[in-house]
Amino acid sequence: AHLDRIGEVDGAIHAFLHVDAEGALAQAAASDARRAAGRPASGLDGVPIAVKDILATQGLPTTCGSKILEGWIPPYDATVVARLKAAGLPILGKTNMDEFAMGSSTEHSAYGPTHNPWDLDRIPGGSGGGSAAAVAAFEAPLALGTDTGGSIRQPGAVTGTVGVKPTYGSISRYGLVALANSLDQVGPVTRTVLDAALLHELIGGHDPRDSTSITQPVPDLTDAVRLGATGDLTGVRIGVVKELNGSGYQDGVRQRFQESVDLMVDAGATLVEVSCPMFVHALAAYYLILPAEASSNLAKFDAMRYGLRVLPEDIADPSAEDVMRASRDAGFGDEVKRRIILGTYALSSGYYDAYYGQAQKVRTLISRDFDAAFEQADVLLSPTAPTTAFKLGEKLDDPIAMYLNDLATIPANLSGVPGISVPGGLAEEDGLPVGIQILAPTMADDRVYRVGSALE
Ligand code: GLN
Repeated sequence: AHLDRIGEVDGAIHAFLHVDAEGALAQAAASDARRAAGRPASGLDGVPIAVKDILATQGLPTTCGSKILEGWIPPYDATVVARLKAAGLPILGKTNMDEFAMGSSTEHSAYGPTHNPWDLDRIPGGSGGGSAAAVAAFEAPLALGTDTGGSIRQPGAVTGTVGVKPTYGSISRYGLVALANSLDQVGPVTRTVLDAALLHELIGGHDPRDSTSITQPVPDLTDAVRLGATGDLTGVRIGVVKELNGSGYQDGVRQRFQESVDLMVDAGATLVEVSCPMFVHALAAYYLILPAEASSNLAKFDAMRYGLRVLPEDIADPSAEDVMRASRDAGFGDEVKRRIILGTYALSSGYYDAYYGQAQKVRTLISRDFDAAFEQADVLLSPTAPTTAFKLGEKLDDPIAMYLNDLATIPANLSGVPGISVPGGLAEEDGLPVGIQILAPTMADDRVYRVGSALE
């Protein structure tokens, strides 16, 4: 049914870069056999899933939305993909994304943009717009995304889906092509909070192949969803972050957000206003730390090890460096080049302390803001994104305007705390989905599920 749906609508939406109908049907047949024998591999055995094209899938293309990896077929599975397969989830295919996960609109994909199923002239968010659009358009019931600065939560918000960024280190990054190692996290993209919890429990937990993997087990998330579904939030302290609300946020977003706060108070929660003064510097710190890590990570795409190799036509006997230059010039898009230049500059000797070093100090101050806020509140609340889905092309030529979409999501990545975006209704002025973000302390992922489920 999902393959049929993809056939019907994906020409217009372009959520997928690659559909593996044959593989998915073979996995589904194996699942049917297990179920018939009364031995399903897991509770989700047979439930199909779409995977963001930044996660290595053995035998299936993995391009990261970039020409430089065109034609590359990984010889191994990311740990999360291996866990999906072991649990019997057929993999429908790989979803579109901004090149190397840099962007908030999926317009930076080298393979063309994804369209928002709510309005095909609008962006589905990014970088994981393909995963969010696939779930919103009923092309897949579940998807995996990755969130480095908001790439699961912001697409979730603008497509009316649920997106979770788990605690840093609680889900393996092995086989995730790194954008910024200290910020990246894999997470679920779904239509309900319960679906997200089931998927999260399945892919989470320690992995010896990831040196940043936490050894503590993932908390009981499905239980937290059940608790939330009672609709009772008595005793839960909700902190509304002063700096993540107000000016810069669309009126319809603020209205729906206020309504969600009121609903939670009606459900018995107590409301506190918290201030996180360092959050206003989060965007600036992120756009130094991320390019610094990314420029170093992308150095491996040297035309020798992976994918594209371009021989410069104007040089008779090109050196390895000439081939590297020509291949990187042809293989990377503008946004990737912009960030490589920014990152190399921020890391260069003489500037390192002033830029990268300074940004790392700001990062520590942001974590301290979180610590102080979580002394007053059990969870923090804000709109996920400042606006609803904007028009394709609207912000493409203005990188700063594009970066501002992640104002509310970036602090969580800088400090590692978990967050969820749940649908909060439609904005009055344009009828488009608004997302509500819930953040909790490190390893308290169960709290975002409880409160998310109560709001659902
Ligand atoms: N939009 C942000 C960026 O461009 C976040 C990306 C992400 O989370 N992968 O960096």
